[in-house]
Amino acid sequence: MSYDDSNIFAKILRNEIPCEKIYEDEFVLSFHDINPQKKIHALVIPKGKYIDLDDFSNNASKEEIVGLIKGINIVAKKLGISKDVGKGYRALSNINEHGGQEVPHLHFHLFGGEKIGKMVE
Ligand code: AMP
Repeated sequence: MSYDDSNIFAKILRNEIPCEKIYEDEFVLSFHDINPQKKIHALVIPKGKYIDLDDFSNNASKEEIVGLIKGINIVAKKLGISKDVGKGYRALSNINEHGGQEVPHLHFHLFGGEKIGKMVE
């Protein structure tokens, strides 16, 4: 499967549709999920064209990988949910069919602001 340039996060990255931006740098863009599942529900996506975590792990540069992991922490701090400044959160990435991935551009969900509860249903 190749990367689909028409996915919704690709459109957000190209500024074709708006998002409620939280943070942006050279490697990542973060914005609030349009359909929040918890009090705080943010998304962190790499700027590069990667379908999912497997694709990213296989093909991204070391700088991009570090940039995404660091980006998650920067966003969590900004939202007041990282362990340094808050009470913690859950970072989750769905991969392909069994993972329940809907948007085929790698993204991490950050859930916080309250107890997140059971890990899987
Ligand atoms: P996943 O099922 O892991 O692919 O998650 C996709 C997420 O993207 C869902 O939580 C959606 O609510 C969210 N989403 C879809 N469209 C948008 C959008 N335009 N802005 C922000 N979040 C979106």
